[in-house]
Amino acid sequence: MSPLSADDLPLLLNTVNEVRAWTAEAKRRGERIGFVPTMGALHEGHLSLVRASRAQCDRTVVSIYVNPSQFAPHEDFGRYPRTLESDLRQLADVAEAVFVPNDAEIYPPGFATWVEPFGPAEPLEGERRPGHFRGVATIVLKLFQIVAPDVAYFGQKDFQQLRVIEQMRDDFHLPVEIRRCPIVREPDGLAMSSRNRYLSAEGRRSATVLFRALETAAHLVSQGERSAAAIEAAVRAVLLSAAGAEIDYAALVDPLHLRPVERIVAPTLCALAVRIENTRLIDNMLLEPPN
Ligand code: AMP
Repeated sequence: MSPLSADDLPLLLNTVNEVRAWTAEAKRRGERIGFVPTMGALHEGHLSLVRASRAQCDRTVVSIYVNPSQFAPHEDFGRYPRTLESDLRQLADVAEAVFVPNDAEIYPPGFATWVEPFGPAEPLEGERRPGHFRGVATIVLKLFQIVAPDVAYFGQKDFQQLRVIEQMRDDFHLPVEIRRCPIVREPDGLAMSSRNRYLSAEGRRSATVLFRALETAAHLVSQGERSAAAIEAAVRAVLLSAAGAEIDYAALVDPLHLRPVERIVAPTLCALAVRIENTRLIDNMLLEPPN
């Protein structure tokens, strides 16, 4: 790899004060700020958000922070991939600034205030990962307060997270526009994820089953099937056909509250969480019944 020159790289900001100063300067110039929060280990999914921001805003800030408070004690916080140098390389020419705080900057001693989301945060991931969305909502609110973006970009890969953040934006009157970005997939349909790198070659092959299950659901809806139970049964059968796949949930839910539906009479989210080789993969697809 060729060495990077400082000219190509985005400006690296490590402290809240540095970000505030950078934002204030941009606002003085009347620039619109786009913001993409991430946990790093960047891939095309993340970069699609950054490009959307670049196309729609004057300045783009990306944050890279593996937020400890959204991981439960038994989860993969310790082994979550950290690839800062390669991340910065990928952001060259697409982002103007990257905020990479350390834990002391975000959670200084004495930190004592949390955002506790309800509503769309309760089912699905909320039931299986207690405390997860509290960690997510808290860090996102903090980042919004620090960066003060005009627009923030989130992927539909984490559909429930998007709903939690939209709800928080509404409930707290946050002056930020939230943009939903489509899921970026590998050529074989697997949704890109920093966690895909945990998979062995065999696990990687099995992982394509999530997309196949979602396509099965979409196909059934296009053929006129309206029973959520029938679609869910077909989805589960496809998922269980893959070696080593364990279903955490496979659910048909309304895309606002993430609560189960019985009939597919309006756009419905098919949401999956599946464990393969102990790696928990999530994916989803919006099923739209033809009129
Ligand atoms: P993460 O680094 O996993 O916290 O993700 C940061 C942002 O990137 C979130 O808004 C994710 O929804 C989004 N993202 C992750 N993977 C994808 C993907 N495959 N397609 C679109 N957006 C994604």
